[in-house]
Amino acid sequence: MARDETAQLRTTVEVEVEVEPIAIPVPRLIKSDTLTLSPDGMITVDGTARIEPLPEDAIFRELGSADLVSPEGVVALLRSLGLDGGRALDPADLGLADAVQPPPARVDSRPQLTMETWEEPSGGHIIGSHGPAADSMSGMLIGGTPEKLEFSAFWMVGYWEDVARRLRLVRACAGHLIAHQQRTPVAEAWAVEGFTDAVERLFFESVTEDVLPLEQVAKLSADEDTQMWRVFMAVHSLFLRSYTPKLSVSLTRGSSSLGLSAWPSDLATALMIQLHNVMVDGLEVRYCRNESCKRPFTRQRGRARKGQYRSSGISYCDAACARAQAQRQARRRQRQQGPG
Ligand SMILES: [Zn+2]
Repeated sequence: MARDETAQLRTTVEVEVEVEPIAIPVPRLIKSDTLTLSPDGMITVDGTARIEPLPEDAIFRELGSADLVSPEGVVALLRSLGLDGGRALDPADLGLADAVQPPPARVDSRPQLTMETWEEPSGGHIIGSHGPAADSMSGMLIGGTPEKLEFSAFWMVGYWEDVARRLRLVRACAGHLIAHQQRTPVAEAWAVEGFTDAVERLFFESVTEDVLPLEQVAKLSADEDTQMWRVFMAVHSLFLRSYTPKLSVSLTRGSSSLGLSAWPSDLATALMIQLHNVMVDGLEVRYCRNESCKRPFTRQRGRARKGQYRSSGISYCDAACARAQAQRQARRRQRQQGPG
């Protein structure tokens, strides 16, 4: 390695991200206003629920501003976006230490929950059933079309700390991507969510004693930001593995038939897929220029029709913010010009 290359390695690290150009459809989620917290910290649904799409940019907006360190904050986010029925995670499996929540004292080892619906096409008797976690869901379909189901259910979603950790991991990935785009240290995004690298690397310690070029590689590998790119990839892959496309099966015998559909509702995975698609689409995360908003976003909400998004040259996250800032600036101009 030439001397100037060595010097460059010490000062700046160039990071190039390449993602297979395949966008993944963001799964729809089960939403309910009847979400509550039981005294032991279990999030439960007991009442009407329905299936809805995740709002555009929820990864930066709703998740970005959510309070994920209190049970009330987690319940509020799930009420506004949808249920997270995913599996509880141990941060140690990702090579991470979690300063916000201690590792799970009680492990919720139930399999990932998927809602199944059984229906007769005659439109008569329709019941809601459950996936492998047999004791945690029961219910009844109360109406709607296959695209807009409504049902009444009792559902144990998961312990709030487990759900919060899954969402903090996804939010750390979002902060990581923003930091990368803005060329600031990515490890900070993990630190603010309470996560730090917890892997011992004895391999690189032994390498440094031998060959000089490897010493540089070892230094680069030991860098905190490098480690957090490893974590970013581990978390990205973990959640994308939970992606389940909706599956429906129809059974017929003679004149009677039965339809079966499975509806997973995994908020953390849905949000991670939004983030994945930001990378696939090569979108730049920008901050709203309304002074009282300043939220990160990629596409302006509420203007373009589906498939017609404008993402370059936009300053405001939605039309209301554009209006608010224009009015603020008009008031300022009026004040400067004075009353007369
Ligand atoms: Zn805004």
